Amino acid sequence: MKRRVVLLGATGSIGSQACDIIDRHPERFEVIGAVAGSDIVALSRVVERFHVPHIAIVNPPNNVGLPAGWGSGLDAACEVAAIDCEVVLCAIAGAAALRPALAAIDRGTDIALASKEVMVMAGGLVTARACATGSCFWPVDSEHSAIWQCLRGEDPANVARLILTASGGAFRDRDPATLGDVTPAEALRHPNWSMGPKVTIDSATMMNKGLEVIEAHFLFGTDYSKIDVVIHPQSLVHSMVEFCDGATMSQMGIPDMHLPIALALAGGARIDGTCGPVNWQNAAVCEFHGLDPHRFPAVDMARRAGEVGGAAPAILNAANEVAVRAFLDRRLRFDEIVPMVAATIDAGTGRPGATLDEIFDADAWARQKVATAIGARSGY
Ligand code: MG
Repeated sequence: MKRRVVLLGATGSIGSQACDIIDRHPERFEVIGAVAGSDIVALSRVVERFHVPHIAIVNPPNNVGLPAGWGSGLDAACEVAAIDCEVVLCAIAGAAALRPALAAIDRGTDIALASKEVMVMAGGLVTARACATGSCFWPVDSEHSAIWQCLRGEDPANVARLILTASGGAFRDRDPATLGDVTPAEALRHPNWSMGPKVTIDSATMMNKGLEVIEAHFLFGTDYSKIDVVIHPQSLVHSMVEFCDGATMSQMGIPDMHLPIALALAGGARIDGTCGPVNWQNAAVCEFHGLDPHRFPAVDMARRAGEVGGAAPAILNAANEVAVRAFLDRRLRFDEIVPMVAATIDAGTGRPGATLDEIFDADAWARQKVATAIGARSGY
């Protein structure tokens, strides 16, 4: 039987790669729902390509008529997320992913999770609700997919440590003292991976790895003290699991998101020819370095926010989203992003984050806080 798929974030980087996979395997998949942020033209192409019956656009541009039958707004996106299907790909960038993801979880549908914000903002709440409805998470993030592959068939009680690999991003070897002058174009040049702009900037600050530590904590139920990060510039080892007997398992492959996306959409089944293999004749070098916490403070900051809990991870996520947007718009310097997030977390100490309302309150508060702080400056 074909797996019926709903694509949340159908026109972004992950959504487009999911469309490639589905296009190549019409015998396996059928797209029955598609949601995009604001790109009507790109969403129309997806709808035509797969004859999608359920469609919504979250933020339609003003004064533009939508095709007949399309829903608009977040509620419409949640309705599409909640239709009966085998898997919902959650690949909406940023905090906007949370409500549609919850709509699918409450329906009991499995989630192919690319939007790490869902776990970062509300990991405790989301995993509890998934447990109650029987919804499963299939990681799309390459590190978490690697860990999931390493854990397959293993007893979770035997896991000693999860080791997330990080390429080090665009400025791995750059003198930190020169990071104030970095332009958005430079920061968007990731050495190994082709990704959307938000995650590429997050890779350059290493905030992405910090968010992934929190994501791993909730996806695998692993204590923060047992999640490590190492720099691995070649991006061949996508992450590792160390076991109690000293064995370490890794998943290796070329840096290509089609692999984790296909595995997640297929519910863990391997699809022939999803991406090319590593050419081991040329892959002579595979380096690993410890993470320098002074050079990349974002990872420890995120880990601490996760350990503190409450609204701290949601504040971290929201403050970072606004700061990254401001950097891309040239209203904030690159080396101001992480300190801005740190100051916002400090200012929000003690805010509760147990319920969805509290999480959204903290999210809105943090966005306002950063916007005000940036607005109060004279620019640069
Ligand atoms: Mg990742």
